[in-house]
Amino acid sequence: MSVQNEKSWKNRLQEYCQKNKLPMPNYRVVQPTSGTSFQADVEINGQWYRGDNDFTSKRNAEQAAAKTAYNSLSNDDMELQSGNIHIGQHMPERYAHIEQCISDMVMAHGGRIRKIHPPNSNGIYKIEITGKYRYCENVQRHHRINRVYLLVDPVNNIYYQKCYDPDCHNFRSAAQSLPIR
Ligand SMILES: [Zn+2]
Repeated sequence: MSVQNEKSWKNRLQEYCQKNKLPMPNYRVVQPTSGTSFQADVEINGQWYRGDNDFTSKRNAEQAAAKTAYNSLSNDDMELQSGNIHIGQHMPERYAHIEQCISDMVMAHGGRIRKIHPPNSNGIYKIEITGKYRYCENVQRHHRINRVYLLVDPVNNIYYQKCYDPDCHNFRSAAQSLPIR
C-alpha cells in the first residue's frame, strides 16, 4: 500500500461523512497479545467496521479499516440509488403479515430488508437483511460487518437465521416461530 493510497482511504471516508452529515470516524487499534501486527476498527455513527489484520503499523491498519467502512457504506448507497431494494421482491399478499413481522423485527434494531429472493422448490424464501441488524445466534451478538439472512418457511410459520460470516459458514439457527394470522 503506497503512502498516497494510505492517505486516500481515511480522507475518502472523512469526506463521505462530511457529505452525509455523519459524525467523524472514530478509530481504535487492536494489537494482538502475541506478535507485532495491528488491526483497526472504525466507528461511523454507532456502527463498527473492522479492517484486515496483519499490518506492521497502526497507520496502515487504520487505512484498512477506513477502506472496509468506505466500501461498505458506498455499496449500500449504490444499492439504494439503483432501486434494487424491494422492487418486485415482496412476499405474496397472503404472506404480507410475515414480511411485515420480519421487517418490524429488524427495523427495531436499525436494520431493513434488502432483498427477498423468489421461493426455492421447497417454498423457502431467502430474505437478505442490511443496515445495523446483524444478529447471529451462532455468536449471540450482532456481527460487526457481515450480514445475516433469514430462510423463511411461510407454510410452517418458521424461519431460520444464517449469515455471511466465514466463521458461521455451516451454521443454521434453530427454527424460530412466526405469527400465524
Ligand atoms: Zn454469524
